Amino acid sequence: MAQETIFSKIIRKEIPSDMVYQDDLVTAFRDISPQAPTHILIIPNKLIPTINDVTAQDEQVLGRLFTVAAKLAAQEGIAHDGYRLIINCNEHGGQEVFHLHMHLLGGRKLGRMLAR
Ligand code: AMP
Repeated sequence: MAQETIFSKIIRKEIPSDMVYQDDLVTAFRDISPQAPTHILIIPNKLIPTINDVTAQDEQVLGRLFTVAAKLAAQEGIAHDGYRLIINCNEHGGQEVFHLHMHLLGGRKLGRMLAR
């Protein structure tokens, strides 16, 4: 069994967060340490620790991450100028919380995708 993280408590509203969206499959809330004017995390309600753990059964929820990202980008007023979606995986990807999450970042020019 995968170990729950703080994100499961956020989904169940057991701890506070700046939640901006929730439905039957996904939850979105503002990152506690924003790296851009808009920095929202969009996560499956179901605990999937990393991208390595996704299965064909998860395709609906993974698709929902993208449709919600597009909706929130429009709501935030960053859709036209553009934004970046990031999903980190394990140590080399820089993943710190082992509950799969998509970062939605925008509101300024984000520069190169990777530091050189
Ligand atoms: P990652 O490095 O991809 O695992 O990103 C984890 C992200 O979760 C970081 O950007 C953190 O700032 C963010 N984070 C950790 N705890 C919380 C929390 N309680 N509420 C909102 N964001 C959080």
